[in-house]
Amino acid sequence: MRNLHLLLLTLSALIALPVAAGSPAPTPAPIWRLDFMHEGGNAAAETFAIEQLLEEPQRWSGPTQDGLERGDYKVELFEIGAAKPWFSYSYSSVYSDWSHGVEATSSRKTFQESVRFPAPANDSTLIISRRKLDQEGQPFERVWQTSIDANTKPVTALSELPTIARDLEIHGAPESHLDLLFIAEGFTEKEREKFFDAAQQASETLFGVEPYASLREKFNVRALFLPSSEATLGGDTALKVNPNALGMARYALTMEDHRLRNAAMQVPYDNIVILTNSSTYSASGIYRAYTVVPVFEPRMRFLLVHELGHHLAGLADEYFHATPGYADAEKVVEPHEPNITALLDKKNLKWAHLIKASTPLPTPWQKQRYLDTLKGDQSWLLEEPYINEVGAFQGANYSPTQYYRPTLNCLMLRDGGDNQFCPVCANGIREVIEATAGSDVGK
Ligand SMILES: [Zn+2]
Repeated sequence: MRNLHLLLLTLSALIALPVAAGSPAPTPAPIWRLDFMHEGGNAAAETFAIEQLLEEPQRWSGPTQDGLERGDYKVELFEIGAAKPWFSYSYSSVYSDWSHGVEATSSRKTFQESVRFPAPANDSTLIISRRKLDQEGQPFERVWQTSIDANTKPVTALSELPTIARDLEIHGAPESHLDLLFIAEGFTEKEREKFFDAAQQASETLFGVEPYASLREKFNVRALFLPSSEATLGGDTALKVNPNALGMARYALTMEDHRLRNAAMQVPYDNIVILTNSSTYSASGIYRAYTVVPVFEPRMRFLLVHELGHHLAGLADEYFHATPGYADAEKVVEPHEPNITALLDKKNLKWAHLIKASTPLPTPWQKQRYLDTLKGDQSWLLEEPYINEVGAFQGANYSPTQYYRPTLNCLMLRDGGDNQFCPVCANGIREVIEATAGSDVGK
């Protein structure tokens, strides 16, 4: 009977074609990508200018609804007249990163940006919303919209980049796995094998840390070689990664978003790690944009997992020492990130279920001693009375007073050599992996 049931279900699904309103084209749909320029700053409105709509060579393999919403922005696609979006995806970008800095208060800048989504079955409206960080609940507010014609013929995205892809480990279909991609930057043609070896090393390093270790089979990992003319960052490299981007030392970014997408689209991917051929401490991680990691830096383990904490899971920095370019928030509301709190409502602390009744809130610790020993020996931290407890420790998110973090020794706070993610961050990472690998497409 069960088989007959299945057969009937399958037949009725076939008869129901074409796809009902409120869904993407039959799965797996082609990937469409809207490339645009995002401009703003100087306390004036932000603007969006479309460059082109492209169709990428891969098929959509990710979720179509984002239940986590960890980014500064949200892109949604609505069929005409529909109240609910058939596609929703939260993300951050180089633009949003820059817009939080002090430079954006006195100047305007333009950045490349793109959003990817499954080709629509019916005409849709694409809406981009930005999070209002100073408002209660940090709600999203619409900043731009454009029409997407389902019958339009997008430009076929053709990459002229001489990429070579290699599978590092494949555990299953892209629809049911998180597809992680390592891309080469600053490796010359002669250094191809050096890159693939480094990518393998980075992959092993990542899966040596929880929760990646126990969720390894939820991943597919690929490496993409892209030759650079020069091996020095700042020179003629393939992705033009600048190791002192946005005027900040040790902050590595590429402004070539569209070039990066044209390289990455050769293989299925959910998350990108750009591995630079460098041993100099300069890195970044932007939620669902990309991560940059100097693969030969001695602290590569920390940089890789910390920056992926931002890029893959949307975690906040738990460190709180003064950071150039960032100022304290004028008005403090509860932040949306899962691993920091303003502790305005102790009773409803988002990680309350992990805190023992005997642990005081805020949780006492030697904050000044920590700041005084930032560049020295901090082994004393491991002797703190609450070292093994989850609590609410003052100092996080670039502010020593406004925000609190869950533990004393998390990888989102510091490089302790062999320290781990706190239980709150580990949960935050696990949630994203489950949501991405447990995609609602193609099942
Ligand atoms: Zn943490």
